[in-house]
Amino acid sequence: MKFHQILERGTQVPLSSHQAVYYHFGDHKYSLDALSRCQDSVRETPVTNIVLGEQVHGNEVKIINPSDLTQQMIVVPHVDGLVTKQRNVLLCIKTADCVPVLLYDAHAEVIGAVHAGRDGTRQNIIAEAVKNMRILGAESQRIYALLGPAICSKHYPVNDELFWQFVKDTGQTQRHPWLDMKKVLIAQLVEAGVCVDRIQNDATCTWESDNYFSYRKNGDKGRQISWIYRGLPC
Ligand SMILES: [Zn+2]
Repeated sequence: MKFHQILERGTQVPLSSHQAVYYHFGDHKYSLDALSRCQDSVRETPVTNIVLGEQVHGNEVKIINPSDLTQQMIVVPHVDGLVTKQRNVLLCIKTADCVPVLLYDAHAEVIGAVHAGRDGTRQNIIAEAVKNMRILGAESQRIYALLGPAICSKHYPVNDELFWQFVKDTGQTQRHPWLDMKKVLIAQLVEAGVCVDRIQNDATCTWESDNYFSYRKNGDKGRQISWIYRGLPC
């Protein structure tokens, strides 16, 4: 029995229930065309809706309910995280150095997608995402978390003001002047009750890899899309 399918650059994670979950760390430019290609990749069941957050570097997370699914393509204002129990809905995050975090509790059939940049991480958007998943019936200990390609610490030096603010707000030590966002995100996931052995990190650096857009490296407007999707049980 197939529990899940990994598409392109996904990282394999074992699932413990009968729910098909698909996820993807893509290298496509952010565009409707790219999203429709994402949709094409999910062949088993039709994607009915594609949902993105506006992504404002905050810590707001929105639960996507059936009443929100008014159009095929939905951009939710002012949020950086999305969670849902709905099937056939693609939750998408666009990044170019920030960390895409995909979450799921296969037992409760709840998925989540988070855009964790420096400010979202500082404001612990992870805690908000887990809290909202729990509202939908998820349990922290059952959640799998996947951290996608993002800028590594070595390529993320910041000025003193940003550095010390980040350290103060996150309570995590950092090696001056470099920020290690994933170190903080993993600590926040554990603090939210996610088991450390259920956290997977794709350590690919967006600066170093030609397969991904890097805002810091190139300053262009390209974005990769990470998405997670719940299909029908296989
Ligand atoms: Zn790097």
